[in-house]
Amino acid sequence: METIKEFRVVIIGSGPAGCTAALYLSRANLIPIVLEGMQPGGQLTITTEVENYPGFPEGILGPKLMDLMRQQAERFGAVFRMENLESVDLSSRLFRITSDQKIYECEALIIAAGASAMQIGLPSEKALQGFGVSYCATCDGFFFKGKEIVVVGGGDSAMEEATFLTKFASKVTVIHRREELRASKIMQDRAKGNPKIDFLFNTTVEEVVGSKDGGVTSLKLRNLHTNELSEMKAQGLFVAIGHTPNTSAYRGKLKLDERGYIITNPHATSTTIPGVFACGDVVDHIYRQAITAAGSGCQAALDCERWLTHERITERWDLPAGEEDRK
Ligand code: NAP
Repeated sequence: METIKEFRVVIIGSGPAGCTAALYLSRANLIPIVLEGMQPGGQLTITTEVENYPGFPEGILGPKLMDLMRQQAERFGAVFRMENLESVDLSSRLFRITSDQKIYECEALIIAAGASAMQIGLPSEKALQGFGVSYCATCDGFFFKGKEIVVVGGGDSAMEEATFLTKFASKVTVIHRREELRASKIMQDRAKGNPKIDFLFNTTVEEVVGSKDGGVTSLKLRNLHTNELSEMKAQGLFVAIGHTPNTSAYRGKLKLDERGYIITNPHATSTTIPGVFACGDVVDHIYRQAITAAGSGCQAALDCERWLTHERITERWDLPAGEEDRK
């Protein structure tokens, strides 16, 4: 596999955190390469309207926002590649980052790989993924025109998915394991005010019934108060129960917490390995907003730039990158 040595900094992930880090590094003449990952643009590319990103008073479509962020970083030279991370070797410098296409040797690494949708964990859920079970209403909602579907979850994502799905479905039932929703009031009110949305509380999905040929036909449910089982007709299941950080490549290499989030140093984006920085949803399990991810991407770029300067790595590289003698 070809080894590339022309970039001082590799950024893993191309959501708001990765794009913002790329913008700041590029403007500092530290042209990074961004490995975009399985979902270029990150989770915002599978949402619809983003109403809470400052600067867009009328809202903006998630994919459009990410396209603009990427263009802004590219304007200053950042390089984006549609490659997926396979492994990292952080045991010595230069770090070796292996994608599905190339090996990159770099001085510094910014991890902005985001998070992925969580699954309920049922064998039947897994078996019917893509055959009536989905984790992305904006991706798959269109296939459920006129159908009765269920959304599992009680957070903002579940409210957003349910509301969006009413554009297509004849009826949407939100199933939540508790009595109270976790979602913000505005999102709850919007969903509760939608005549196509019903709620079923204190209930879990125990089994998804259906087949790959016929799709989902019903759900087996458990009432957590009475422990009673029941079956409900449904032609689709959307799971919206949160996300898990995309950090498996760093297990045993960087300090992670029990849920897999990367632990950074206090008030910084630096990690347990000097030269490795982390930002966005791989670190943050509290705020998880596009704007907070973008902010932490900026912090990671600034921390990275200062570290490269402090280590005198910047001095050893002549600009433009690629023509330096750094060995
Ligand atoms: P979340 O806030 O963590 O909510 C996850 C929901 O799924 C909770 O209600 C939880 O139940 C439920 N849940 C978790 N595991 C489950 C399981 N195994 N089985 C059944 N239910 C399960 O996640 P989120 O809704 O994805 O939101 C994440 C962050 O993104 C939040 O900060 C949110 O504000 C933000 N967000 C914002 C917007 C927006 O403003 N437009 C849209 C989407 C998300 P419990 O409540 O019982 O724990």
